[in-house]
Amino acid sequence: SIAAGVNITYKILYNDAVAMTGGQQVGERPEGHSVLQIAESLHAEGAKKVIVVTDEPEKYDGVKVPGDNVAIRHRDDLDEIQREFREIKGTTAIIYDQTCATEKRRRRKRGTAVDPAVRVVINELVCEGCGDCSVQSNCLSVEPLETEFGRKRTINQSTCNKDTSCLKGFCPSFITVEGGALKKKSKSKANSPFELGAMPEPVVPQLARDQVWGVVVAGVGGTGVITIGQLLGMAAHIEGKGIVTQDAAGLAQKGGATWSHALIGESQDAIRTTRVGTAAADLILAADPLVAVNAETLARMREGRTHVALNTHSTPTAAFVRNANWQNPQDDCASEIARAVGLDGVGAFDADAAANALMGDTLYANPMLLGYAWQKGWMPLDYASLMRAIELNNVAIENNKTAFEWGRRAAHDLASVQKLVSPGQVIEFKKRDTVESLVKRRVEFLTGYQNTAYAEQYKAFVDKVQKAEAAAVGKTVLTETVARYLFKLMAYKDEYEVARLHTDTAFLERVNGMFEGDFKLNYHLAPPIIAKKNAKGQLQKQKFGAGMLTGFRFLAKLKGLRGTALDIFGRTEERKTERALIGEYRASIEEVIAGLNAANHATALEIASLPEQIRGYGHVKERNLAAARTRWADLLAKWRNPAGERAAA
Ligand code: SF4
Repeated sequence: SIAAGVNITYKILYNDAVAMTGGQQVGERPEGHSVLQIAESLHAEGAKKVIVVTDEPEKYDGVKVPGDNVAIRHRDDLDEIQREFREIKGTTAIIYDQTCATEKRRRRKRGTAVDPAVRVVINELVCEGCGDCSVQSNCLSVEPLETEFGRKRTINQSTCNKDTSCLKGFCPSFITVEGGALKKKSKSKANSPFELGAMPEPVVPQLARDQVWGVVVAGVGGTGVITIGQLLGMAAHIEGKGIVTQDAAGLAQKGGATWSHALIGESQDAIRTTRVGTAAADLILAADPLVAVNAETLARMREGRTHVALNTHSTPTAAFVRNANWQNPQDDCASEIARAVGLDGVGAFDADAAANALMGDTLYANPMLLGYAWQKGWMPLDYASLMRAIELNNVAIENNKTAFEWGRRAAHDLASVQKLVSPGQVIEFKKRDTVESLVKRRVEFLTGYQNTAYAEQYKAFVDKVQKAEAAAVGKTVLTETVARYLFKLMAYKDEYEVARLHTDTAFLERVNGMFEGDFKLNYHLAPPIIAKKNAKGQLQKQKFGAGMLTGFRFLAKLKGLRGTALDIFGRTEERKTERALIGEYRASIEEVIAGLNAANHATALEIASLPEQIRGYGHVKERNLAAARTRWADLLAKWRNPAGERAAA
């Protein structure tokens, strides 16, 4: 393209490793093939401009770049660089320098790369569930967390890569924990599966001379799917059986669908393929339900032959990054698998919840699933060889053996394991929340937020809606909706409230319970009065040290100033809008209850739910509010003129 004078920008993604085949170095020369060598080649070829983008520009400090047309920039500038290159005639190139996430974790485990002593924690009370952190970081370790006050976000500490890109989400919910380490769950005697009494030995399938046992491990990259395939391979090898394993189709990437195929035969000659064929799986270790219902996996299943050991916990997919309201379809997945192999062919449990509760880390979910399948008698391998394979793997040997044993227990007596995972939940059915209990909790919250009078205003309004709804349609669902969303608007998170929530004792205890050793907390905030703005005019967050907690304690005490002439924070447009919204919402609901009937009840619910969309902070909230206002206007028009809509239809 340089010779032809083509107007083009190449994007070269440099991930620092040949990640799909085991993390070998890039390039054949002993010193590898570096980013700067690539930049130099492009420069020598005559590229008009070359920019290396990286999240660690400091590693290039003092490094001589090949020419004036080569530069190093932070990856945050990517959008700006692309716009710049759009205007340059001729060939340009962006080299994106970022080590493969899987490889990075591998190197950290081996001690060949620095493991940053920093963890991100989201205060779910402060979180508004806007999803901006998912969008900014594109990271699947930012997971949904369903709470009393709606869907929030949490960081999955087991899969987090510690690149802290989620901090770019525009909100004050994040704290970073520097130093210390995640507390390991103490393993009490009661938490040893080896001491819970004898278990029957399973009937291990015996292979006929030409028989091949097809196993597919289907899961999410970065969670040990490939390791399970390797363990099966090693165990078969120890027994002198024939074995072929292949990591198929998917990339071993963090968050990506990944498969590992293992073919086990009585002899090597019996195996004539490298992957489990169509309808030829005897066992699917379904480490993730969504990957298990992928066409690639479903095609291997056959009722009467295939057994599926299913981990019902599903990792949120990329869809969650784009859609904050995404619902995980894990139940639908289980039904689809049952349709494919029959009810008797599936054994399911939440291995992530079990691994987290019993082992302190969801990374043990896959060895648990392996133990589960073995105890069910779905694997033609002996216990001793599987244990030896775990030993030879030489990573967290005792923990992996314990996880395997927990899996066996789950297969043998699931209820007893579930009881340990979530005591009480096995036999208790959760009562449906009543309007009274829902309102009571919010009255308590608003009393803490401001005072009793403020909470009483809330309660009086909800009571009014309740009476009107009971009289008009004899239901409570509108009342519940108003109770949730009037609360959401009234508990708007200004500076005093964020301060109060960050000093919440339960939250601080949770953080202290998560970490051990010498650690300190940092806060990431963009106080409108002092924060700088970026090129788009958006406030930029800064890091504040542990002293901020004292500041928060002081600020939280000033909540009485909220809405008064002395409220300096209350003078911003954002705060004025938040206060006005409460009145606007109440006015709409007043209008709704004045004309409520069975025919328009559904529209009333839509109007009452509008604040659900008004999430986030600063420019994120502004954007969401603008969208909600459009919908608000449409719904009110529909409310006022329902016949008009029918006529238009
Ligand atoms: S408020 Fe939005 S950006 Fe902040 S943690 Fe919650 S979901 Fe992420």
